[in-house]
Amino acid sequence: MFTQTNEITFKLPSWISDYTKEIDTLKDINDRALFVIEASRQNILNKTGGPFAAAVFEKDSGALIALGVNLVTSQGLSTLHAEIVALEIAENKLHTYDLSGNEKIEYELVSSCEPCAMCFGAIPWSGVKRVITCAKDEDARAELALKIEVLKSLMKLKELKPKRF
Ligand SMILES: [Zn+2]
Repeated sequence: MFTQTNEITFKLPSWISDYTKEIDTLKDINDRALFVIEASRQNILNKTGGPFAAAVFEKDSGALIALGVNLVTSQGLSTLHAEIVALEIAENKLHTYDLSGNEKIEYELVSSCEPCAMCFGAIPWSGVKRVITCAKDEDARAELALKIEVLKSLMKLKELKPKRF
C-alpha cells in the first residue's frame, strides 16, 4: 500500500540565532556580502551543511529579513540550497510568497556564491528586485574554493537583475 508523509519541514541550525542576534541593518553592500560569507563559513565550522549562505535584505535600508544556509546534508533534502532556504524563511516571515515588495520596500537576495540553475530559476519567482553574488560558480567548483580560508578572498561583487516571468 502506498504511503507518504503529509508534511515536510526543515530546521535552521541553532547557531544562526546567535550569529544574527546583533544584526539588524547592514547599510553597506559589502557588509551584507561579508555577513553571508561568514555565515557560509559558520555552516562548515558547525557541520550543519555546505559552505553556502544567502540572505534577504530590504534593498534600500539594508534591514535583514532572513538568513539561510545550505541544509542539504543536515536535513537530507537535495533542494535546500542557501538561496532557497533564505527565500522560504523570508516569505514565511513576511507572510507572502511575493517578495516584489511595494513602492516603499524592495527586497534583495545576497548569496555567498553565484546561484545554481535551480536557484537561478527560483529567484525570479520570489520577486526579489536584486541579486548580489560573491564567489563565482566556477570558484565554488574549484577545489580550493571549498576551503574556508579562501572564501573571503573569492569575494567579487556581481550584480544580477532577475526578470520576473
Ligand atoms: Zn542552488
